[in-house]
Amino acid sequence: MPKHDIVIIGAGPGGYVAALRGAQLGFDVAVVEKEEALGGTCVRVGCIPSKALLESSERYLEAREHLAEHGVRAGEVTLDLETMLARKTRVVQQNTDGVAFLFKKNKVTRYRGTGELAGGRKVTVHGEDGDQVLEAQHIVLATGSVPSALTGVDFDGGAVVSSTEALDFPSVPKRLVVIGAGYIGLELGSVWSRLGAEVTVLEYFDRILPGMDLETAKEALKVFKRQGLAFRLGARVSGAKVSGRGGSRKVTVEIEGGEAVEAERVLVAVGRRPATQGLGLENAGVELDERGRVRVEDGFRSSAEGIYAIGDLIEGPMLAHKAEEDGVALMERLAGGPGHVDYDLVPGVVYTDPEIATVGRSEERLEEDGVPYRKGVFPFTANGRARALGKTEGRVKILAHEETDRVLGVHILGARAGDLIAEAVAAMTYGASAEDLARTVHAHPTLSEIVKEAALAVDGRALHI
Ligand code: NAD
Repeated sequence: MPKHDIVIIGAGPGGYVAALRGAQLGFDVAVVEKEEALGGTCVRVGCIPSKALLESSERYLEAREHLAEHGVRAGEVTLDLETMLARKTRVVQQNTDGVAFLFKKNKVTRYRGTGELAGGRKVTVHGEDGDQVLEAQHIVLATGSVPSALTGVDFDGGAVVSSTEALDFPSVPKRLVVIGAGYIGLELGSVWSRLGAEVTVLEYFDRILPGMDLETAKEALKVFKRQGLAFRLGARVSGAKVSGRGGSRKVTVEIEGGEAVEAERVLVAVGRRPATQGLGLENAGVELDERGRVRVEDGFRSSAEGIYAIGDLIEGPMLAHKAEEDGVALMERLAGGPGHVDYDLVPGVVYTDPEIATVGRSEERLEEDGVPYRKGVFPFTANGRARALGKTEGRVKILAHEETDRVLGVHILGARAGDLIAEAVAAMTYGASAEDLARTVHAHPTLSEIVKEAALAVDGRALHI
């Protein structure tokens, strides 16, 4: 029976990064992964392919609608969807191959098959050529999550799909209904809208991006509406029916209250749930919490001795970078060191155009928590670089404690918000005040000056407005 110090089930950002860090720390690490390609949902059918399509569709729109403003005449711009999708597939492959390369380089052993806990510290790998049992000192569960289903709206892989299939529609749907105005709904809704689909987003709550700073989400909603996306907020979907075949196939999505919306395709993006099915948790005595996540104690320890869980399987935001940090922290703990991830400082980024990025508490959360705060806002329109880029939509908002001035939340809607937020995360990680950010030298002309100006605005001394 092969023995390893650590056996990790799942080669997504949580599992593969844990494997690399474990190997760096001197452990003999093995990873069990059922898919041929490494990298998990994020790399194969999530973050990476969606970013490739977001980039391509943005360029298509840019060429069609905005290049002329720059004095660049491109002639007739047409869409070659096949080439766009093929490029996306190549980008994914570069990344999955990259993970395989890193495994080799770090001497991580890879087992192809579905991993199942076999009791004690053993894992069965159900592979193509039969079963194999591995023994480990530590077992790490890193199987991630799967799309949540919606009662009455059954996935059929064609007309009613999850994000996986929505990365590969063979043609641009004439009408696309997206259920859920969260990360996936807004990103993939934007992609297909830019490529020519008529997109309607149905959202259960009376706002988009529930949980994020409300004012920022409202601003974003205005922008998306201007871009041509249609929204139905407070829409409770009660069912969907597929009728007709081939070219005349359509889906009727029913909204509670008797209304119905018709579409060629429906993307269900109502969240994800931990992928615990078939993992053999009961064989090993691994308990779940009331929300179906693996219950962990300090240090990612499950209820079973020697078995740990990270990433989307456990508490905290379901984001790739959070899973990576979990993996690193766990390995460092197993090596006898400290290892901690502050879930309050995990940034979230929606890669629409403009991007939305957020870290820390929203205004609503601060009010709920009874924390007195001051707020500094600075718009992209007042920044020279944003004007030069032609990206003047959006704003940076900084929330700082009224008395101590400590930065408590930063919410950005605007070009490259996902990159700009890094400064805020670093500042908050070191307990910075708005004054610290305001006194930091920012290169001119850059978008980062908007962060500095918002920090100045906390104290009412923004300069360029
Ligand atoms: P999400 O949680 O971001 O959004 C789901 C949305 O669906 C919410 O707005 C919710 O209110 C709504 N909803 C739920 N039930 C509904 C119903 N019955 N009818 C209408 N609306 C309903 O989830 P997602 O967009 O599916 O993404 C799944 C996960 O993947 C998220 O946890 C997200 O963190 C992650 N993700 C992240 C990124 C990124 O980091 N850029 C991109 C894609 C996905």
